[in-house]
Amino acid sequence: MALNLIMLGPPGAGKGTQAERFARARGIPRISTGDILREAVHEGTEVGVRAKVVMDRGDLVGDDVVIGIVRERLNRPDASDGFVLDGFPRTVAQAVALDDIMAVRPPLIVVDIVVPESELVRRLSFRLICADCGVTAHPGNGAAPVSCRKCGGPLIQRTDDTDAVVRGRLGVYRRDTKPLVEYYRSRPTFCSIDGAQAADQVTADIAAAVEAAIGRGARAVGGRAL
Ligand code: AMP
Repeated sequence: MALNLIMLGPPGAGKGTQAERFARARGIPRISTGDILREAVHEGTEVGVRAKVVMDRGDLVGDDVVIGIVRERLNRPDASDGFVLDGFPRTVAQAVALDDIMAVRPPLIVVDIVVPESELVRRLSFRLICADCGVTAHPGNGAAPVSCRKCGGPLIQRTDDTDAVVRGRLGVYRRDTKPLVEYYRSRPTFCSIDGAQAADQVTADIAAAVEAAIGRGARAVGGRAL
C-alpha cells in the first residue's frame, strides 16, 4: 500500500527536517511546495516572479497556483508509491482539493507537529537556504550544514525569516492553516506529535505514530479519503 503523508505544523515546527528524514527512510519523495516555489523564483519563471512578492511578505501564494503545482507533482511516477507533502495543504480550500486528488488513491496519513510559538521564533532565526538554488538546508544530526546538499552553493538566511516577517507568517498560520487541525482531527489517520523534543525523538515518534495510523486507517470503513 502506498504511504501518502502530509505534515502539518507552523513555520519552524521542523516539518522540512522530519519530512526529509521520513521520505528518505521510506524511499518516497518529499514534496515541499515552499521549495518548488523558491526554485521557480530562482529560475525567474512566470509563477516564480508573481510568487516572490507574496512570499517576501510572508503571505500565502494563491490556492489555484499551489493546487496546480501539487496536482501535477503527485501525478509523476515517483509519487505513485507514496509521498510526504511538506507545506501543503495550508488552507481549507487546499485540503479539500487534496481530498479530491486522494479520493482515488487513499489513505492519507496526517501528521501534525506541535511546537510552542516562543520556540518557533527562536528556531526560524537560524534557518538557512541555498543562495544558488533556493533549497532549504536542514541540519543533519545536530551539525549545522555549511553548504547546499543539492548543488554545493553557499547558505544564506531566507528573506522571509526576518523577525517581523516571521511573526506575520505565524499570524498567517494561525488564521489560515491551524483550522486544518480541526479539519483532519477526527480522522483515524490523524496523529499529533510533540515537536518541541529533540529532532531524533520527533523522528521516532512520527515513525511509531504513522505505523499506528496505518493500522487504524486499514480498519476504518467508509468511502471517503482517510
Ligand atoms: P515554506 O518553505 O513551506 O515555509 O513556504 C515558504 C512560502 O512559500 C510561504 O510563506 C508561502 O508564501 C509559500 N507557500 C508554500 N507552500 C504554500 C501553500 N501550500 N500555499 C500557499 N503558499 C505557500
